[in-house]
Amino acid sequence: MNMIKAVSIYKQFNQLEVLKGISLAVDKGEVIAIIGPSGSGKSTFLRCLNRLETIDRGTIEIEGDVLATDHGEGKVNYAAETEVRKICRRMGMVFQQFNLFPHLTVLENLIEAPITVKGMRQEAIVPKAEDLLRKVGLAEKRDVYPSRLSGGQKQRVAIARALAMNPDIMLFDEPTSALDPELTGEVLKTMRQLAEEHMTMIVVTHEMAFAREVANRVIFMDNGEIVEEGLPATIFGSPSQPRTKAFLNKVL
Ligand code: ADP
Ligand code: MG
Repeated sequence: MNMIKAVSIYKQFNQLEVLKGISLAVDKGEVIAIIGPSGSGKSTFLRCLNRLETIDRGTIEIEGDVLATDHGEGKVNYAAETEVRKICRRMGMVFQQFNLFPHLTVLENLIEAPITVKGMRQEAIVPKAEDLLRKVGLAEKRDVYPSRLSGGQKQRVAIARALAMNPDIMLFDEPTSALDPELTGEVLKTMRQLAEEHMTMIVVTHEMAFAREVANRVIFMDNGEIVEEGLPATIFGSPSQPRTKAFLNKVL
């Protein structure tokens, strides 16, 4: 069983076709890096996986559970709303902008969703949240407000907050793009650690060194399509598609 199975995903905004038949299957413990130029549909694809966007055509299964199925002729059926929420809860997402709750402390940010969404008891989630803060190296920031944190620290809190929901899959959308260069390392280190613990991850990133070293598979997207995918060594070392070569020449 795949952790994620997306088949022939199409999505358009008004007249603009943003995803033109994207298919991707992700196995347990795999780390997938998605690279590609701005506007190629990377964020939209991630957002479709956890139904922050709906798809126009295609099928999405998460851990064998059907999120959306294509009935042909442009008709996609989604699972019932409670089922959708249950399925999507298994995916944690980290955005470029950290989206922490500014009026809550770091610890409160971590325990909010487990309590309100999952109904966890404070006694159960607080120790777990503290463990996660320790893991991302921010135990001492437990009681401060996000405004007192650096961008890198905020992003590590955002990762810990996503992990507090105990996801089976983590989706990262350019988690270091909003950071000053000297702060990206600490966030990438946290992600690398997660990968080493065999978290199933999809990471949209401009960090080519990270993609090369940490990903099991690299997907190059351009213009709403997967142009090429393969092992990092292949994609970065000897890409077969001209569009991949042109992109890598620009960014490397
Ligand atoms: P990427 O993440 O690869 O930069 P996106 O998925 O963000 O690409 O965007 C792909 C295309 O879809 C872009 O042209 C973008 O302007 C457009 N787009 C994204 N979201 C919306 C939206 N909610 N409404 C209209 N157009 C959108
Ligand atoms: Mg994007």
